[in-house]
Amino acid sequence: MKRKTKRIICIALIYTLFCLVAILMINYVDIGTEAEPVAELEESTEQESELVEEPVIKVVTPGTGHVVCIDAGHQQRADMKKEPIGPGASKKKARVDGGTTGKYTGITEFQLDLEIALKVQKELEDRGYTVVMTRTTNDVNISNSERSIIANEAKAEAFVRIHADGSDDTKVHGASTVCQTKDNPYNGELYESSRKLSDCVLDGVVASAGCKKRQVIEVDSMSGINWSKVPTTIIEVGYLSNKDEEAKLITDAYQQLLAKGIADGLDNYFK
Ligand SMILES: [Zn+2]
Repeated sequence: MKRKTKRIICIALIYTLFCLVAILMINYVDIGTEAEPVAELEESTEQESELVEEPVIKVVTPGTGHVVCIDAGHQQRADMKKEPIGPGASKKKARVDGGTTGKYTGITEFQLDLEIALKVQKELEDRGYTVVMTRTTNDVNISNSERSIIANEAKAEAFVRIHADGSDDTKVHGASTVCQTKDNPYNGELYESSRKLSDCVLDGVVASAGCKKRQVIEVDSMSGINWSKVPTTIIEVGYLSNKDEEAKLITDAYQQLLAKGIADGLDNYFK
């Protein structure tokens, strides 16, 4: 071959080699740039799954899934007609008596009980409970047995009845709860659960409101307990015959502490 031809072939070979290297480099860079969007895609998938999980965490509150019935004691006008104190009982008591009245402020128990009950409803609903109220106004006529039947028909897992005490002894103050005895002829089988509920609610109220802890009273003479087919307690929040306690009981702030205490007690009961 001529020297010139050899030179042309040589240049052509170098050029081809250069082109091959160039093609390889372009391919390499392509792979590199393609890898990045994959990583971005993975990241955005992670962010999406985090967003999906967030509301689930918010829904899990202590009361979720639990049904509670709240009864504000008494009503605007007493109904002294009689009803049996339990299913099939020959002994009878007034359908609903008038309750007590504040010795110093004149507040009626039915009004105080309702104010606290409505705060308990709000507190429990905020914690995820399903709340059934026996009454939300004072102008009703619902007997004690009828209130229990509301709780029974709602299949409530706890029935909490809100009351206030009164005494001729103006020094007496503090909170108590009430449940049946284990020998109650109508629903003695509910004693264990009602006693536990009474302990939990009383301890919750005392811890939250800072009032004196009196006792859990066990009696079989309460129509609103005897007709109940679900765990039941009466919380006596304090005395409307003690000057200091009555002054606290009528305030929104103290009523809110009582409501928080009752809700704390229910949280503990269902733990
Ligand atoms: Zn009462």
